[in-house]
Amino acid sequence: MRIDLHTHSTASDGTDTPAELVVNAAAAGLDVVAITDHDTTAGWAPAVEALPAGLTLVRGMEMSCIGLGEDGYPVSVHLLAYLFDPTDRSFADERERLRAERVDRLRAMAQRMAADGLPIDPEAVLASAGPSAGRPHLARALVAAGVVSSVDAAFTDLLAARGRYYVEKADTPLRRAVSMIAEAGGVSVLAHTKARKRGRLLAESDIRELAELGLGGLEIAHPDHSAPDREALAGLAAELGLLRTGSSDYHGANKTIELGEFTTDPAQFEELVGKATGVPVVVS
Ligand code: AMP
Ligand code: FE
Ligand code: FE
Ligand code: ZN
Repeated sequence: MRIDLHTHSTASDGTDTPAELVVNAAAAGLDVVAITDHDTTAGWAPAVEALPAGLTLVRGMEMSCIGLGEDGYPVSVHLLAYLFDPTDRSFADERERLRAERVDRLRAMAQRMAADGLPIDPEAVLASAGPSAGRPHLARALVAAGVVSSVDAAFTDLLAARGRYYVEKADTPLRRAVSMIAEAGGVSVLAHTKARKRGRLLAESDIRELAELGLGGLEIAHPDHSAPDREALAGLAAELGLLRTGSSDYHGANKTIELGEFTTDPAQFEELVGKATGVPVVVS
């Protein structure tokens, strides 16, 4: 069983359409794939529609949250949400708010670049994005305009959180997100909490507190996690009774990682499915 529980499509900042994503997942030899676009479930229906025989689809999302950093200041945190009821009203409203924040924020970043003389058209950047606009859409515009050589290069400077063009967005407080997901029958898993190259990290005290509040698991195996960090996280998950997942965080051509490069243990997956009451997994 090969299980990849964190991937992105064109519904957010991946480059495979949801249909291509499930076809590519089957071609990569996966048995289970989760579609986890940022702040949207727009990819769910087309992924179900195109699901190849033999592949199990987990409907999920990666939610933009704000937590407490190790240094005591707020830090951006990604929270994976699996198998929740998409019609739960307060959760659906919050997703809509997050997507509106994304649009306003990306427009503001693009406008700052344009004002500085960079060859960027803010409205064209927004038009290039699907339901959930993100910095990778601006990165691709910068590559297309010849400003930088790659999406990755755009993030080292122009799009970086400490860069001159960065604009904050108002993400969901982590505690609130964990309870919203639970109330919608879903299972929450903290994504890449030790991705050091992305910036500051979430305080361990926050993880411990969230475990008390219904957090479901920790993402352990991830391309941005070192081996020692994975080991430490697995220990923490065991201590707190949390699920342990592993995933590629595939973004198509926006990153170099392939589907299935990191995977989840089948027993952990079964336990995750057993905890969810929102929507079932889909098998074609
Ligand atoms: P945003 O959601 O708009 O804040 O943009 C963050 C997204 O940018 C993440 O979900 C990643 O997919 C992507 N990202 C962050 N750092 C990099 C990088 N170095 N190279 C490529 N994509 C990145
Ligand atoms: Fe992303
Ligand atoms: Fe993420
Ligand atoms: Zn992701």
